Amino acid sequence: MTTVLIVEDEPDIRQFLRSSLGAEGYRVVESATGERATIDAGTHKPDLAIVDLGLPDLDGVEVIRRIRSWSPMPIIVLSARALEQSKVQALDAGADDYVTKPFGVGELLARVRVALRHGSRSATGRPALKLGSVTVDLEKHAVRKSGAEVHLTALEFRLLTCLAQHLGMVVTHRQLLREVWGPSHVEHTHYLRIYMKQLRDKLEEDPVRPRYLVTETGIGYRLLADDA
Ligand code: CA
Repeated sequence: MTTVLIVEDEPDIRQFLRSSLGAEGYRVVESATGERATIDAGTHKPDLAIVDLGLPDLDGVEVIRRIRSWSPMPIIVLSARALEQSKVQALDAGADDYVTKPFGVGELLARVRVALRHGSRSATGRPALKLGSVTVDLEKHAVRKSGAEVHLTALEFRLLTCLAQHLGMVVTHRQLLREVWGPSHVEHTHYLRIYMKQLRDKLEEDPVRPRYLVTETGIGYRLLADDA
């Protein structure tokens, strides 16, 4: 049985999460404080954690840091829209995705499914990704559009690979810059704009309205695939 840890101090939201996840067959463990969550994450060994950022004792970012220090479990942040900066901090601290309050149950469950499916953080051994008429085989370094080979530069391919390793989930500007260009380039967000445009020009049907290489304004990018 898949266990989900809910870290949330508001009883109404906890109740909503418990019934929504319970109805889908997940086992739910609830923590109302950050300290409690740190303990519950260790004792219940959940498969995934949903962490509210505004907790009464610890910052949710600190809870994420603590869990991430010993566990690769997928972590989804619950955050109010006003807290965009802390959302980025939480993702950079190791969270995999976020859901903005107020949220719908459909959106939340979709995020949970994606995070559980791709939580292993490994792109190896995965079948080719389908992005419309484009197929991407990461192992063979092969990209085709309607059957014809598409040439990607080494940097474009690394950027695409980094997004694919977090398929369906958001990756922050900082994460992408660190993983693709290196730690000394984490402030160079203009690199990303340039290379993301190049990737969209090569892979998207309509690069101006991308369906697969999606912008998360103020936060980063997300790669979607037809089967993800
Ligand atoms: Ca809260």
